Amino acid sequence: MASLFQTKIEYLTGVGPEWGALLRGELGIDTFEDLIHHYPLRYQDCSQIHKIAALQPNMPYVQLRGTILDIKPSQAGRQKLQVRLKDDTGVITLLWLRGISWISEKLKLGAVYTVHGKPSFDSYNYEINLIHPEIEVFNPNQKEDLCLRPSYASTEKLKKEYLNSKAIATLQRRLLQKAADHITETLPEALRKQYKLITKAEALHHIHFPKDTAALLQARRRLKFEELFYQQLQCLQLKKVRLAKQQGQPFTNTSLLHAFYQQGLPFQLTGAQKRVVTEIYNDLRKDQQMNRLLQGDVGSGKTMVAFLSMLICVGNGSQAAMMAPTELLAEQHYRVLQELAQPLGITVGLLTGAIKQKRRSELLAALHEGKLQILVGTHALISDSVSYHNLGLAIIDEQHRFGVRQRAQLCAKNLAYPPHVLAMSATPIPRSLAMTFYGDLDVSVIDEMPAGRKPIKTMHAYDAQRLRVFELLRKQIVAGRQVYIVYPLIEESETLDYKNLIDGYESMCRAFPEFPVGIVHGRMYAVDKEYEMQRFIKGETKLMVSTTVIEVGVDIPNATVMVIENAERFGLAQLHQLRGRVGRSSEQAYCVLMTRDKLNPISKERIQAMVRTTDGFEIADVDLKLRGPGDLLGVQQSGALDFKIADLAQDGKIIQAAREAAQRMLQEDPDLAQPHHGVVKKALEHLSGDGVAWGVG
Ligand code: ADP
Ligand code: MG
Repeated sequence: MASLFQTKIEYLTGVGPEWGALLRGELGIDTFEDLIHHYPLRYQDCSQIHKIAALQPNMPYVQLRGTILDIKPSQAGRQKLQVRLKDDTGVITLLWLRGISWISEKLKLGAVYTVHGKPSFDSYNYEINLIHPEIEVFNPNQKEDLCLRPSYASTEKLKKEYLNSKAIATLQRRLLQKAADHITETLPEALRKQYKLITKAEALHHIHFPKDTAALLQARRRLKFEELFYQQLQCLQLKKVRLAKQQGQPFTNTSLLHAFYQQGLPFQLTGAQKRVVTEIYNDLRKDQQMNRLLQGDVGSGKTMVAFLSMLICVGNGSQAAMMAPTELLAEQHYRVLQELAQPLGITVGLLTGAIKQKRRSELLAALHEGKLQILVGTHALISDSVSYHNLGLAIIDEQHRFGVRQRAQLCAKNLAYPPHVLAMSATPIPRSLAMTFYGDLDVSVIDEMPAGRKPIKTMHAYDAQRLRVFELLRKQIVAGRQVYIVYPLIEESETLDYKNLIDGYESMCRAFPEFPVGIVHGRMYAVDKEYEMQRFIKGETKLMVSTTVIEVGVDIPNATVMVIENAERFGLAQLHQLRGRVGRSSEQAYCVLMTRDKLNPISKERIQAMVRTTDGFEIADVDLKLRGPGDLLGVQQSGALDFKIADLAQDGKIIQAAREAAQRMLQEDPDLAQPHHGVVKKALEHLSGDGVAWGVG
């Protein structure tokens, strides 16, 4: 894009240094370009005014219009502002728990207001209310031109500084006005014509401020196509580099692996694990770099395969590194690997942001000298200060959490011989899609679960059946098991969700006075989180109330029950991931999906699919079927890769088209040297403009 887009965000009128720093810190928005690519999470349908009498607690978003009946200011002790709004059908309470003085100043009795918010059910007063709605004076002279209003992801910290969704929308509008003439097209015209895609400038306008649903659809289609097209181009180029046979270190000595086998494994490997290790060994023994994706459902035993691969590497005098997306997970891997490696006299180190300076320096020195053979950690592993003696194998766990760039950065830690790469993922992308997507990788699949596991029993329970669920929990805890209770935390309504979580924790404490209850969530300090996790791991707490922070990888075999609250709010893939946290021992495991009492047919079908099967691939297929354009106005679910707008589960057709287009273009013009491909070449350079050689990915 033209250089205007490289302007730092603080120079946009109305932003300034303070907001600039906040946008950068909280949302990663550094430049104009980053802001314009911060697409709305969803849109509020402002095409109709709802009637108060017709509100239902399960309505996603409503727009009301009425006058203010009364204002009950904050009472002593608890900060709370209660306002009653009236239209010609009824009265509803609007509730604020913060920003109170600011809001109450705006409100006048008798004036007409337009209010937007999500209806929620107050189970104490038994009525519907709106918590933290948006409210503005209704001006009858102003034309209401928008049918769809963008709603942007923001954070608590930003909202405190008044950088809420609405403020972000104002900035977007300003930027679009200023930048309209500077938006450069990134797809050749012929391609746009062929696939009937609108221009980039039109798409950017309509993604932020669609005049109607049709315009929004076209904008999305165009931007998804663009993103996938460039992703496919990069993949195809990487594949070309790979086929050009990158040199690698051959690891032919398997004596260490055999020593480990002889010493006796903690369990018998599954057939699939054995097969996959053989596939990996066949790569490692060649003098070409391995680039392999290991796919295996949650709980299929990828960590052991990783360890066996490390043994091959270490047994040949090289070092292995394993990168995980969270500190918690890195620490868990460290404990597991340490226990396996110690009897063999192999040294394992842990490197995360939490490691103190002194320990860190020791570790890094040992790593540099080659005394440390295995290093486990977070993305700290790729920071500049880390230098390996001879990195031979780079393992990336939960690789969908990382970008291609981080994979490349880890590889760049050995320039003499790029390390072999093993990327592991549990995300059950339909297999055909995975092949297309990881075009630069070979794929191994663990398609068998360890023996002796009983399939997880999944049940659906409505809120009204809560007491029966508690009975199940009590029985399990008395039998010595532990329980997870998971709450959704969706950025947008974070405060509300957070309140739910804390309420949930308190109600668990009340319901189970005889058992210690723990809590973890993203707002806690790392040390506190760690403390709570440790208490749970040691079995000191019996119930763990948490957000989805426990979603990735954590392995606590004694936790056999998972209750997922508001299960209808999670994506299927995420439910599957979460459920995989239990069922890791020979004990019967249970997953209870709690939902509100009324469900729409799609939600019902999704929950039923979870109850019916534990096969990740089948669930991925159901997901693919159920999520169609109908999802348009819903919360976007995070895709399997780090896309801004494309979604692997939804966009099969666009993926196909983008891939064909990319293939054809590279066939006709491998170096993109033709003048009309200039825009493509430039955009590609811009995309990989981080100075990392893609070839070593
Ligand atoms: P994931 O593939 O989700 O990363 P893990 O590697 O964490 O799964 O393995 C899940 C659990 O299964 C761990 O407790 C691990 O020790 C155990 N496990 C792995 N392989 C086997 C096996 N072949 N037999 C029995 N248990 C196994
Ligand atoms: Mg794992």
